[in-house]
Amino acid sequence: MRALTFDQKLSFQSHWDDPAEIEGDTLIRVTQAGICSTDLEIARGYMGFTGVLGHEFVGRVLASPQKELIGQRVVGEINIVCGRCDLCLSGLSSHCRNRSVLGIDKHPGAFADLVRLPAANLHLLPDEVDDDQAVFVEPLAAAFQVLKQIQLDDRKWVTVLGAGRLGLLVAQVLRNSGCPVRVVGTQARKLALCEKWSIRSRLLSDIVPRHDQDVVVDCTGKASGFETAMAMVRPRGTIVLKSTVAGDKALNLAPLVVDEINVIGSRCGPFRQAISALAQKSVDVISLMSRRMKLEQGVQAMQLAARPDVLKIILTCD
Ligand SMILES: [Zn+2]
Ligand SMILES: [Zn+2]
Repeated sequence: MRALTFDQKLSFQSHWDDPAEIEGDTLIRVTQAGICSTDLEIARGYMGFTGVLGHEFVGRVLASPQKELIGQRVVGEINIVCGRCDLCLSGLSSHCRNRSVLGIDKHPGAFADLVRLPAANLHLLPDEVDDDQAVFVEPLAAAFQVLKQIQLDDRKWVTVLGAGRLGLLVAQVLRNSGCPVRVVGTQARKLALCEKWSIRSRLLSDIVPRHDQDVVVDCTGKASGFETAMAMVRPRGTIVLKSTVAGDKALNLAPLVVDEINVIGSRCGPFRQAISALAQKSVDVISLMSRRMKLEQGVQAMQLAARPDVLKIILTCD
């Protein structure tokens, strides 16, 4: 099969081995897949992963022990879990001690013609959600996770820091929950999307952090973003850290202690909620599509996705 792989460097492979069968799993032909910041981190060598990249995908089931799945259009949850460890048994299976993660940790990913996942990871797509919207299910689910982790009400001052691929999804999800959210970013063109959605936004260079926000959701993926979040949040407020920060910058964490800040890490979220939000068109993801490129152009696509003015690049596998 064709695949976009990383092993010290990013390469397009025209003849890569099909993913090995794991007993009872499902084989999916990938239709298209989205590039996210985690993929870019992996391609910089930060995550120690080698093999086929990619975890945001839509495809059709080719083979499965669950015959009713064959031919269905699906998206897939990315954590492959054991179901037997203490965390799985206590309902925290996304933190399974024996997990592998699609295209991120010990499991070949979806920037390829074929991908394998347990049937339990798959979600069928309703006709209302087309293939372009479907590649956003995984990151949109991650955005919904914020609502599961913090209590928001209409009195809260909430800032989403970072107007990138993830921040713009988080902002829409929080706004839809009735929360008066504001987005702070560095790219005027991305902030213009907020205006289209009637979400308040400001350029980072135009604001002075005043330790007055109840909640800051940091979607910058940068150590400097976390520093800004610490300067924005009020004493006893909450920072939700939504993107993994890879870097060697030493962070001064004293403000967390002095201001008694709650820091909540936030990763994968509920697929069902994301699919129904897309089906109801309550979240606009199509405006986040910057470009569609072929899997063969994967190396250039990853370079393009790293540019600050670019949002979602979709790789097509036809
Ligand atoms: Zn992702
Ligand atoms: Zn487990």
